[in-house]
Amino acid sequence: MDGLRLVGEEGFVDRPPCARCGATGCAWDRIGGAPVCPDCQAALSRGEGEAMRVPVGPGPCAVCGRSGSVALLTFPLRSAGPVEIDLCPPHFRALIRRGLDPSSYHQLGRRLRQLGLSADRVFLLHEAFYDAEGRALRPVPEVT
Ligand SMILES: [Zn+2]
Ligand SMILES: [Zn+2]
Repeated sequence: MDGLRLVGEEGFVDRPPCARCGATGCAWDRIGGAPVCPDCQAALSRGEGEAMRVPVGPGPCAVCGRSGSVALLTFPLRSAGPVEIDLCPPHFRALIRRGLDPSSYHQLGRRLRQLGLSADRVFLLHEAFYDAEGRALRPVPEVT
């Protein structure tokens, strides 16, 4: 199973502003190549603001192996370079709203450990968002 890889730091030393709100300051995650800050990710997962056209590639989802996935590039803490995670649309939405189900959370954690990374070094999987059992603590509320 694929869908998760370490990417060399090369080409990622600059910190382009968020493609949606223009915020600068950090190395934002990139969704389908576009930098998107955490606030805009949360807004996106609530369905707020302009809809984002997210390119879906052929690769398998890192969580469930289903083909047809969105590439999320993220910069783990104290990592030599970013990690690219391919996720099918449902798992992508669950990850950015910080609301993965426990088995998906654990699966992603296992995959990251195979790369020598712990899940809590990835912002979207931070321990503030999930407890030790992988239960989502603070998911972005779904639009009702
Ligand atoms: Zn933004
Ligand atoms: Zn999936």
